[in-house]
Amino acid sequence: MSKRDYYEILGVAKGASPDEIKKAYRKVAMQFHPDRNPGDKSAEEKFKEAAEAYEVLSDADKRAQYDRFGHAGLSGNGRGGHGAQNMDDIFSQFGDIFGDDIFGNFFGGGGGRRGGGGQRSRGVRGSNLRIKLKLNYEEIARGTTKQIKVKKYVACTTCNGSGAKDKNSVQTCATCGGNGQVRKVTNTFLGQMQTVTTCPTCNGEGTTVTAKCTACKGEGRVYSEETVTIDIPAGVQEGMQLSVGGRGNAGERGGPPGDLIILIEEEQHKELHRDGLNVAYELHLSFPDAAFGTNAEVPTIDGRAKIKIPPGTQSGKIFRLKGKGFPGVNSYEKGDQLIYINVWTPQNMTAEERAMLEKLNNSPNFKPQPDKSDKNFFDKVREMFS
Ligand SMILES: [Zn+2]
Ligand SMILES: [Zn+2]
Repeated sequence: MSKRDYYEILGVAKGASPDEIKKAYRKVAMQFHPDRNPGDKSAEEKFKEAAEAYEVLSDADKRAQYDRFGHAGLSGNGRGGHGAQNMDDIFSQFGDIFGDDIFGNFFGGGGGRRGGGGQRSRGVRGSNLRIKLKLNYEEIARGTTKQIKVKKYVACTTCNGSGAKDKNSVQTCATCGGNGQVRKVTNTFLGQMQTVTTCPTCNGEGTTVTAKCTACKGEGRVYSEETVTIDIPAGVQEGMQLSVGGRGNAGERGGPPGDLIILIEEEQHKELHRDGLNVAYELHLSFPDAAFGTNAEVPTIDGRAKIKIPPGTQSGKIFRLKGKGFPGVNSYEKGDQLIYINVWTPQNMTAEERAMLEKLNNSPNFKPQPDKSDKNFFDKVREMFS
């Protein structure tokens, strides 16, 4: 199933400002909100789709990635904006966009978010972690699995992330009664409104800790190191980001972990040069080899390959090894390897060599005959950019 364009889903132009995107999302989310479309599966799908589009377009990094590479640029093991989102995640996003108050009221829920079950959320979400990963051409061509040691916050094993010394030191919050929210009635220009806000005592956690865990000083996490296994799909490029969901910093006091964001870097190859999906290689031939023709061996991103050079090959000629370039990420596309011929002109010559060449220079066969060459210069330029 092909995915729809995120800008199209929200109904905004490609260059839309963050504010325009927020407004557009607000509109679409309200239109397809499950509370307004009970039992309507297609509305729910549209609602999720809009949340996914917003998650990507509201994040400068993800948006830049999407603008450059489309949906493929956001794939990876993590959520990264792909795949169906959990409804709870979508609703927890609303706090930022609509504000707790407005949202609770708009849908007349009275119980805050959907279901009226309160919004108790444990701890504080861990931050995303960004690391750079350098890959060579061979690894990029085939895809690879890397084990990386990452320094980060991990859940405290002494208190299991709760931050509490023991079970008895976790108590139900007296202010909200464990609900995580408090309600109040305020007067606004629209009339009296009942608003639901996060409990200020427990920050919405519903519990308070009376004695802290000594290992993590109550934070529920400690700074440590973890080995993370990362699957890199074939065809990634310099500057691409892969998001591995939940492998960033552990949250505070049992909060959900952040994501691990991998920034791809390419290691330069000694002989090959990447140009999108294609690979360029410059083959130097001696003048006699170019004139007589020869069999040459060239490096590729997948071992060495043999190539037949026909007699009379001109400098500047381009040979194409079909399918020997990079694969596209998550696609069946494959680039080519382009071999640029450079006929080597001797720079130092003995008197004897010089005398021989001078003799040849007078032969009519050695006079350049560009119109007899197989392709003219402009055709070659066109071929290069095709
Ligand atoms: Zn509370
Ligand atoms: Zn602890």
